[in-house]
Amino acid sequence: MVRTAVRTAIIGAGIGGLAAALALSRRDLAVDLYEQAPEPGEVGAGLHLGSNGSRLLRRLGLAEDLERVAVRPVALEVRDWSDGRIRVRQPMGGVWEASFGAPYYTVHRADLHRMLIDRLPSGTVRPGHRLTGFTTGDDMVRLHFADRPDTEADVLVGADGVHSAVRAALHGVGTPLLTGTVAMRGLLPADALPGLPTDALLVWSGPTVRLLCAPVRAGRQIAYVAIVPATARDRESWSARGDPADLRAAFADWCPDVRKLTEAVRTTHRWTLQDREPLALWGRGRVTLLGDAAHPMLPHHGQGANQAVEDGVALAHCLARATDTGRVASALRHYETLRRPHTTRVQLGARDGGSGRFAGPGDERGVRGLVEDVSWVQRYDIEAELDRR
Ligand code: FAD
Repeated sequence: MVRTAVRTAIIGAGIGGLAAALALSRRDLAVDLYEQAPEPGEVGAGLHLGSNGSRLLRRLGLAEDLERVAVRPVALEVRDWSDGRIRVRQPMGGVWEASFGAPYYTVHRADLHRMLIDRLPSGTVRPGHRLTGFTTGDDMVRLHFADRPDTEADVLVGADGVHSAVRAALHGVGTPLLTGTVAMRGLLPADALPGLPTDALLVWSGPTVRLLCAPVRAGRQIAYVAIVPATARDRESWSARGDPADLRAAFADWCPDVRKLTEAVRTTHRWTLQDREPLALWGRGRVTLLGDAAHPMLPHHGQGANQAVEDGVALAHCLARATDTGRVASALRHYETLRRPHTTRVQLGARDGGSGRFAGPGDERGVRGLVEDVSWVQRYDIEAELDRR
């Protein structure tokens, strides 16, 4: 039975908004998820789910789906950019799960998106709703949409991504911090890479650019991400089509495996890599933020979506304790107090791209150091933390 006393409106059906909606509905809390796109969907790219994210998604009922379509990489192989030989092989798979208490998966973003949508009560996601603003009253929030009637909710959650309208209304537009780099990414059929393992993460790291490959779709496809210098035309764009010729040019003098891979690419996307300074406060009154809207971060720790899932689980836990609509503001401040210090630490840590660790003769120590650096993130269990508080 749905407890209708507290009704939550989430803006944005990305991985963060969907995970939050699922966590709320599993606690019998009423939730509506408004998405600007006419059809909710995700781009064709890969996503790394660390142990911290996968343990929560499994508890949210996605264990079987993840086992079916995601991949548990058996190892991380760091390869030499010029001759392709393996320089370091860090075991993952069962070793990772034993260390951090849940699997490390690589998954197609669209597959994860679909799994989450399929588990929501029908009618939860409302596509074609672009939030243009909101007004807060003492006992409700009024939401304004482009070309749609206004609606009311007890709680408003901005899960509307890096260009969040909810964050802009609360804190102003702010300034993105550009890194001068771009991620070019997309998917390839696994048989486009003969001779390369399709059950491991592969990294080739050169002096100025880097390439990472991860198997998805039960190993039938490979998701690649190349980090390359930005050009003047990237400045305005966060997500745009890229030109495969640029990818080939960036790796023209690399080892044959990498050249073969870039030659197989037919379509690619460019993401300008940017984050923002951590916010000192997330929300106000009945309004809060979640995921990239609250803490956009660089992808070097593969944590943006994982942190958004943690946010969603924590939000549901805190709102479930608000037994009437008069208590939601204090529940939201409790959620923010729990999440902000943790996500700030991850956000700042993700600024270290780790290139230096892959490049020099101290490779092996460097890669082990990288694993140690993220081990506190991987081990973290937000639900255990919530039980302690
Ligand atoms: P989003 O996914 O951006 O979703 C926001 C949603 O809100 C969208 O659907 C949008 O249409 C909607 N929206 C926006 N404005 C409005 C509005 N006004 N009204 C209604 N709807 C609106 N993270 C990981 O955990 N692991 C990885 O391996 C990883 N790799 C990455 C690689 C790259 C190259 C990049 C750039 C990022 C990577 N990330 C990774 C980060 C991750 O993609 C993001 O952190 C995550 O997707 C954020 O999810 P979100 O739900 O907060 O926002």
